[in-house]
Amino acid sequence: MTADISRVWDEVTGHLRRILNPDTFDRWIAGIVPLALDGGTCRLGVSNDMFCEWLANHYQDIIAQALEKAAGRPLKVVFESGHDRPRPAVVRAAPALVAVAAPATAPTEDREESETSRYNRRFTFENFVIGENNKFSYAACYAVAKTPGKAYNPLFIQGGTGLGKTHLLQAISQEILSRKRRAHIEYLSSEEFANSFIDALRDRTMPRFRQHFRNVDVLLIDDVHFFTGKEQLQEEFFHTFNALYNAHKQIVLASDRPPHEINGLEKRLVSRFEWGLTAEIQRPDLETRVAILRKKQEDHAIKADDATIDFIANRIRSNIRRLEGALIRLVSFSSMTGAPVTLALAEKMLQPMFDEEMGNALSFERIQKVVAEFYDVRLADMTSKRRPANIAFPRQVAMYLCRRLTEHSSPTIGEAFNRNHATILHAVTTVEARLEKDSDLRQSLSVLERKLKS
Ligand code: ADP
Ligand code: MG
Repeated sequence: MTADISRVWDEVTGHLRRILNPDTFDRWIAGIVPLALDGGTCRLGVSNDMFCEWLANHYQDIIAQALEKAAGRPLKVVFESGHDRPRPAVVRAAPALVAVAAPATAPTEDREESETSRYNRRFTFENFVIGENNKFSYAACYAVAKTPGKAYNPLFIQGGTGLGKTHLLQAISQEILSRKRRAHIEYLSSEEFANSFIDALRDRTMPRFRQHFRNVDVLLIDDVHFFTGKEQLQEEFFHTFNALYNAHKQIVLASDRPPHEINGLEKRLVSRFEWGLTAEIQRPDLETRVAILRKKQEDHAIKADDATIDFIANRIRSNIRRLEGALIRLVSFSSMTGAPVTLALAEKMLQPMFDEEMGNALSFERIQKVVAEFYDVRLADMTSKRRPANIAFPRQVAMYLCRRLTEHSSPTIGEAFNRNHATILHAVTTVEARLEKDSDLRQSLSVLERKLKS
């Protein structure tokens, strides 16, 4: 039996090593201790409960598949905590962990180097184009960079993908570092924070982890929506937050949705995230999109004529990363092939990006259309202010489906319905409550979902 599990596990790890990226493999798989194959069950040992939970949530399926292949039969996977594997000599470290592992002893030179290389040099306040959509967030970030811990604490930046959240967070860090080179700033994604936490648990270096994160001057966490549903991690972050907040250290958070919409985020964290200021970045208007493209030309030392810039700005509306990508793609194609940048070239080269953009823009409209047809109301009533119940409810159903079937946050969905995000949230809870008791509605919704997915 023992020989059997070793052989099977060797094959499983061989396979997983090939398909997972090396960091993931080292962090999650290498430390697993194969315990036994008992009948239809494979028991795997890991160091603690956090590992059990994480593996069960994220890697159970691929481990089970690999096991089935290696053992020649399906096996149930059971994780057991309290089993440590002797540590291998070399363990890969996440960038943040390097800082965690050697905060006090690293020579200053090294620290400065690693501090600056973590940032994109272009992500500064000077390079940030201010428009109606982002001026509030810009001002808040700028104030925080000038007087960390004093202006707004915490500062929560919310906005859709590619609208400049990371740019602003890094601008704060770089601005503070430009004035005070040795300021102790920790900028990382919530995923990196999670990884450092897991590593500290595994390596039993929690005191050092705490000592490190609770003593920074400024903590900036990007993409905090990744914190969802990880209890121990949220607990730890809660204490980190309190320690920093009480010491008047600046905390800045960024996410694609407001705190109360982050699924699985503990209430006490939601409320803390809302203690300070929440600033939203909206989609840029045409004027801002043109200004951004002009600025990007300078940043990248490239040149396109005004007609081409207008053309791109008119077609790509929802994501600045994509806007920038379109320009770079066009200009690099032209410089590689010697073909001049013309509207015709732009039209041909950028079509896939426009399609992608349309795909995003259309989905709300498609949902509205399908729902309107189903309930036999006019499409215009999906966005109108009229309130009779025979219109209001279908509209709520459409809002509910937009929330469920797309990745968009409720403020974004609100825009598509001419409403604010609270209306969308209200629609979602109303429909959910009715779904519990109303089997006809359940059936209607499953018909609608099937239509939309086909
Ligand atoms: P997010 O983190 O919100 O997904 P990023 O901060 O990564 O978005 O921004 C995506 C790209 O768009 C980056 O190259 C960034 O420099 C650029 N960008 C976003 N907003 C602006 C702006 N207002 N001015 C200049 N560049 C911007
Ligand atoms: Mg980002």
